[in-house]
Amino acid sequence: MASAAVAAGSPDFARALLAWQRKHGRHDLPWQNTRDPYRVWLSEIMLQQTQVATVIGYYERFLQRFPDIHALAAAPLEAVLEAWAGLGYYSRARMAHRCAQAVAGAGGGAFPASAAALEQLPGIGPSTAAAIAAFCFGERAAILDANVKRVLSRHRAVAGDPKRPDVLAELWQHARALLPPARAMGRYTQAIMDLGATVCTRTRPRCDACPVRADCQARLQGRTAELPGRGTTTPRPVRAAHLLVALRNQAVLLEERAPSGIWGGLLGLPEFASPAQLHAAALALGAGEPDRLDERRHGFTHFTLLFTPHLLRLPQQLPTPDAPGRRWLPLAQIESAALPAPLRVLLRDVRDAHAGRAQHDPAAARRPPARGRA
Ligand code: SF4
Repeated sequence: MASAAVAAGSPDFARALLAWQRKHGRHDLPWQNTRDPYRVWLSEIMLQQTQVATVIGYYERFLQRFPDIHALAAAPLEAVLEAWAGLGYYSRARMAHRCAQAVAGAGGGAFPASAAALEQLPGIGPSTAAAIAAFCFGERAAILDANVKRVLSRHRAVAGDPKRPDVLAELWQHARALLPPARAMGRYTQAIMDLGATVCTRTRPRCDACPVRADCQARLQGRTAELPGRGTTTPRPVRAAHLLVALRNQAVLLEERAPSGIWGGLLGLPEFASPAQLHAAALALGAGEPDRLDERRHGFTHFTLLFTPHLLRLPQQLPTPDAPGRRWLPLAQIESAALPAPLRVLLRDVRDAHAGRAQHDPAAARRPPARGRA
């Protein structure tokens, strides 16, 4: 159950966080110390489902390639997906591209200056809109990302799964009630993010180092381990797929994936539901039996993909398969292509084996399953 009463505004909470942030918060992340909405927006989108340490490199490379909203809006989607490849959750990249086109078009290149208007843009939810509005325009808009949900669930002892609408509504009320005056909004927003990321962590929060420990209800009630509440977890279903790794003359056969669905819009390997279907496709290419490699596993939010690669070496003189959206990609280019991370890892292994290591280590292309995010 959510707690019965919502706390009134607490200037002490904001004051303590602001003082703590000055001394102990993060100050040198590449998207800090700017009020440029393009840079702040990009960082917020990248950070939605990805850790800071991973985002930093992608963020800097992305900005080199697309230094402003006009460059991003004018780029082909494939180039955007290429720059995003490996960061996962590719719908973010597609929405970012659409958002850039909306801002560069109707907005003339200027992001709107209020959370309410920002929320109308593709891919920008209420918390992201609030973060941009607070950092760039000093608006008194509350954020409620995963870290802040955790901090407030604990500090105000809000029980229940934050995904539940009533619990979420109560957390939003707390988030709004605790805001400082507009002039402190940028630092405050950073402070509450930093607290969740570095002190009020998911496991073993460092309450002794916390600036708001004095009136933290979870700490006072000995409930930090049980808050925030968790919903019932069901095991993720497993989906199997068979992937054709067709090699010809140092190149691999790839196809453009459909715009929606997993790895949407990226390049992928031809995928089949069964080995029989894959073998039929291999025969259609005029080749013999492919070599079945060890299966690999990749976790998505809602299911686990168990994929089995089948390696097919084609004679050099074969013509290019004539199918729309298919192409041969030189193995030397797999690092820069718009490939999902698990397929890039697989193709690296295949490339290394192909380059001759297999002669000494036949298991080179049979690595253990890759794990991690898309
Ligand atoms: Fe989180 Fe502990 Fe601080 Fe409470 S006292 S907000 S549980 S770190």
